[in-house]
Amino acid sequence: MKIVDIVPHVLSTPLEEPFSFSQGWVDRRSTMIVEVLTDEGVTGWGESLCHGLQPPEVAAAFVEFCFKPMLVGRDPFDVEVLWEEMYNRARPFGGGAAVNAMSGVDIALWDVIGRYLDRPIHKLLGGAFRSEVTPYATGFYRREGQDYVEAGVEEASRHLSEGFKAMKLKIGFGVEADLEYVHAVRETVGPRVRLMMDANCAYDLPAARRLLLESQDAEVHFFEEPLAPEDLEGYKALRNLSATYVAAGENLFGKIGYRRWISEGALDILQPDLCSSGGFTECKKIAALAQAWNTAVVPHVWGSGIGLAASLQLITTLPPTPLSLNPEEPMLEYDRSLHPFREDLIGGAISTVNGKVPVPQGPGIGVEVHREVLERYGKPFR
Ligand code: CA
Repeated sequence: MKIVDIVPHVLSTPLEEPFSFSQGWVDRRSTMIVEVLTDEGVTGWGESLCHGLQPPEVAAAFVEFCFKPMLVGRDPFDVEVLWEEMYNRARPFGGGAAVNAMSGVDIALWDVIGRYLDRPIHKLLGGAFRSEVTPYATGFYRREGQDYVEAGVEEASRHLSEGFKAMKLKIGFGVEADLEYVHAVRETVGPRVRLMMDANCAYDLPAARRLLLESQDAEVHFFEEPLAPEDLEGYKALRNLSATYVAAGENLFGKIGYRRWISEGALDILQPDLCSSGGFTECKKIAALAQAWNTAVVPHVWGSGIGLAASLQLITTLPPTPLSLNPEEPMLEYDRSLHPFREDLIGGAISTVNGKVPVPQGPGIGVEVHREVLERYGKPFR
């Protein structure tokens, strides 16, 4: 089998109601979808994560100008060779944006292989440790003119009524404001719901330490990205200060990017994003490194339905750390915030059933991509 074309699609659409997190106001949902076409007539799909404020055209340009010329004519089954060649070519760019773009290509290559062999990707990666994954609700973004505490309490109640038993609060708006917010939500949801908090890198070490220690009554399960994503020493100083786990990873790229964070024990929970940290080829290696250091992996997920389906394929292959009769299992980050095409792009193929999200069992990423939705929200980047 040979790759005959690779098409990067840039999808972007304005939100009716912009929302904010600690880094700014999000007024569009965007993503970059990779389509890989082969001479066998098999087409594969992948996604490069678009965070709220970064343009999808950057990843598209990497695919169009750097990776496509390298890959056309090559065999998708050589996916690991292709990964290393792409990485080596993009090395002078310094990781980050290049690995983010490679992730979409890698996912699409695995999707091609899965569709060609008529097997879901998790079967190609060694099998599933679970057939369904417990989701946690990601949301709690802020809108203009709200009473944020009141809105947070309302949103928590909504997730509860929809069957979520875990949810992640957006913080990073000032230590005092965050403490009031987290405690108010804990009071609303009661003691048995798992609460997490995510500052999106808004704090320095002293502020993060205060927040960690003064939120202990709220029994927060993990504190995500309290510090800048380069602050390895800061994370090491923060870990083990309280019972709350320290988590990060959506801004780390590739096994080399993760290496010291794992070997130096900087984090309790690693959060590689399949669509940004290196695709299946690299995230399986990051997971292997994590397992060797007995560190849990709970992937970051924030993309469209393509990224969501692909992430479920990865999550089901992650071993519990360690295995036991009733182990701590990796959760699915399930974005509940506004997104005009997240579900439609895959025809609503992923949903919650009795509080769990079943892993798609179809070939490749396990779901079908609806081309008319792709075309409605985006266009090929040429
Ligand atoms: Ca995050």
